[in-house]
Amino acid sequence: MADLPAILGGPPVRHNRSWPEWPQLGDAERELLSSTLESGRWSSARGHLAADFANEFAAFQGARHGLPLVNGSCSLEVALAACGIGSGDEVLVPGLTFVTTATAVLAVNAIPIFVDVEPDSLCLDVGAAEAAVSDRTRAVIPVHLAGRPCDLDALGDLCERHGLAMIEDCAHAHGSRWRERGVGSFGSFGSFSFQQGKLITAGEGGALITDDEELRERAWSYANCGRIEGGHRYDHVNYGINLRMTEWQGAVLQAQLRRLPEQNRIREERAALLDAELTQIPGLRPQSGDARISGHGRYGYAFDYDPAEFSGLPTSGLIAALRHEGILAGESYPSLNTLRVFREARFGKRLPEGVPLPDYASVRLPNAEHAAAHSVWLDHRMLLAEPDEVFDVVRALMRIRERSRAVKLRTSKAVTSAGRIFRRYRRA
Ligand SMILES: *Cc1c(COP(=O)(O)O)cnc(C)c1O
Repeated sequence: MADLPAILGGPPVRHNRSWPEWPQLGDAERELLSSTLESGRWSSARGHLAADFANEFAAFQGARHGLPLVNGSCSLEVALAACGIGSGDEVLVPGLTFVTTATAVLAVNAIPIFVDVEPDSLCLDVGAAEAAVSDRTRAVIPVHLAGRPCDLDALGDLCERHGLAMIEDCAHAHGSRWRERGVGSFGSFGSFSFQQGKLITAGEGGALITDDEELRERAWSYANCGRIEGGHRYDHVNYGINLRMTEWQGAVLQAQLRRLPEQNRIREERAALLDAELTQIPGLRPQSGDARISGHGRYGYAFDYDPAEFSGLPTSGLIAALRHEGILAGESYPSLNTLRVFREARFGKRLPEGVPLPDYASVRLPNAEHAAAHSVWLDHRMLLAEPDEVFDVVRALMRIRERSRAVKLRTSKAVTSAGRIFRRYRRA
């Protein structure tokens, strides 16, 4: 029994040990929350905690203005609207990301065009983006996947040559830096999420950052029912809705932001340990870096997995086996072109009649589809643990690899049932 992987009944690598909690909190969160409660200023239309947080966060990322918002999906919609993107416009979106990077485009009645990612960085392939530019293309939304900055030099160049707005989806990339400059400060807007799992969180929450005062004003108006900042509360000048963050969120996020630099430092150190170890194990290939990256906010740790080196154990089987060992491993996002919402264009009546939609069902994104089927994501909670604990990840991977040869892991019941669920969403 002792040398069996935990999924077949052996003792798990992490026996009776838990990982650091997420989210983390302390007296700063408690005090700010309780003073918000007592103040009676619970809406950010009345108080200044949310606004102060957003500006502080913008400064942290290297941008002039911050706008606090309900979440990191609506923030993309606000950014697109403020950039004047609308009916029938095309917006380039990487195929490998969370779904709302693309559905935010539909929310402003524009058309998401899927672009493949690079196989090593898992970020938007700028050459493929260039090839996808049409005379209707107005914007591109690069996603700094798992906090790894995209090639912002090449993207800046692409946008300049084609007159495109760049809206950076930084939902994974709090504290990430490219050439010593914070991500989100390169595009017209940087969009951040503070959802529960993200690197700073208030359960839900979002923000836009920008250097451009006019863009900030337009975004503010959209998120504040079409008012003009400083104007009368019933003077609605533009189309807009209420997408304001609450003061509760602002309070918690101010405290969370204080923790971020030190947590990012630890996560980066631990990720470097994993990079060094995982590249030694046949069949594993960590997401690639770039010499121009000067900070990597690690929203998880992604690596490519080759089942052939693990006796044919499928990705879902590896993930299930890791979880049995006590390792917080998860699957990749699916490639967006494989989701039913796009394959069947289930968009309601968002787009005007006659708009030329791509046939999403026939779109092929080989690298995004490969990554969806073959990459494994490790939870960033583990990157806050002590170095020896981080090595448990390595121990678990080595043990599964070694045992995958000797025992029938591939055909065990736990592995095959994990596979059935997994395959429902992706082409392996
Ligand atoms: C989390 C996330 C979002 C959406 O943020 P919410 O705050 O959950 O709405 C957008 N894009 C990416 C890449 C994300 O991971």
